[in-house]
Amino acid sequence: MTATAHALIGGTIAASIQNPTIGIPLAAISHPIADMIPHWDFGVGWNRKSKLVLFFQSAADLTFGVILTFLIFGSSTDRLYLFFAILMAEVWDFMQMPYLLFNFKFFPFSTFYRFGHRTNGKAKLPLGILTQVATVAGLILILRSFN
Ligand SMILES: [Zn+2]
Repeated sequence: MTATAHALIGGTIAASIQNPTIGIPLAAISHPIADMIPHWDFGVGWNRKSKLVLFFQSAADLTFGVILTFLIFGSSTDRLYLFFAILMAEVWDFMQMPYLLFNFKFFPFSTFYRFGHRTNGKAKLPLGILTQVATVAGLILILRSFN
């Protein structure tokens, strides 16, 4: 999924589950689970893109996602906890970046790349964005209804 969707999912978990020892691992496992839902992201066609374009698109996606998540949940959630929940929700893709950008095709980056490749459900635009909006909105509705 986009870094924005992963950030919002991590943020929703932190905002809804008070205990970080539960919330942080949940944020971490949310990544591969969310990625199984068919979606589109900037990684699609990464090997046909220039590395610079891929880097800037990924960085913009991440920056936007982190800012949006802090805007939504920052006032109601411990900010350090929120930060780590986002980090853990994203780290799987950070670990692929050296493989994608610098051709570091060795452990551990190759392992994260292969795992990400296998768990990624693909969908074309615009459906591939709608599935993420539905996933994030659905998760917010479900988790926030417990509070
Ligand atoms: Zn991913």
